[in-house]
Amino acid sequence: MLSSCQDTGTPSASGATGPATQPNAGPGVEPPVTTGDAALQRLLEGNARFVANRNEAIDEGVERRVAVSKGQQPFATVIGCVDSRVPIELVFDRGLGDLVVVRSAGEALDQSVTGSLEFGVAELHTPLLMVLGHQRCGAIDATIKAMDSHRTGAHAGQIGYLVDTLSPAVRQVAGKPGDRLDNAVQANVGHVLAELRKSPVLGPMEKSGKVKLVGAYYELDTGKVVVI
Ligand SMILES: [Zn+2]
Repeated sequence: MLSSCQDTGTPSASGATGPATQPNAGPGVEPPVTTGDAALQRLLEGNARFVANRNEAIDEGVERRVAVSKGQQPFATVIGCVDSRVPIELVFDRGLGDLVVVRSAGEALDQSVTGSLEFGVAELHTPLLMVLGHQRCGAIDATIKAMDSHRTGAHAGQIGYLVDTLSPAVRQVAGKPGDRLDNAVQANVGHVLAELRKSPVLGPMEKSGKVKLVGAYYELDTGKVVVI
């Protein structure tokens, strides 16, 4: 499966035009993003359009589909929640070939999630990795309820794994002032970032400046993403 994913924007895969120019052949085309700061700025600009209901950069048309079919040069990797109200490309007003997106409930990490994020950064060369939590996260709310009722082991299937994985963030904010769920959502973003920094792939890449790791929060009420 990964082998097909690896058919990416390498020079050999994208032909004579090269990875930097291949996906961007038409008018209104953006230059490639090479730094984490520039990638973050591009994401936040897209979110500002989303908030203002001025979506304009989402490009899912035939031209763009053909342009990126032979190679890709995504500029950011984002891990967000599975919540149906937080579709990553829409929130950032981005289209085909722009983002590597991994979603899991409450941004919970496991081997596949972490490996996919490492793949986005190390193999697809995105200079930015964002962990995006969100307002009123149901997964974290469910974790709070399970912990309060001392029923953390009561879930069927693998939902218990999610509760176990998200519970450190809930414990971290115990007794803190403010909204408990919101506090836990934000603490969880920090927790996920800390875990990702332990990755032997991501940690050194961040230290050497090859990737910027950033936490962010999506507000359902406004559509706004803020860096935290
Ligand atoms: Zn959620």
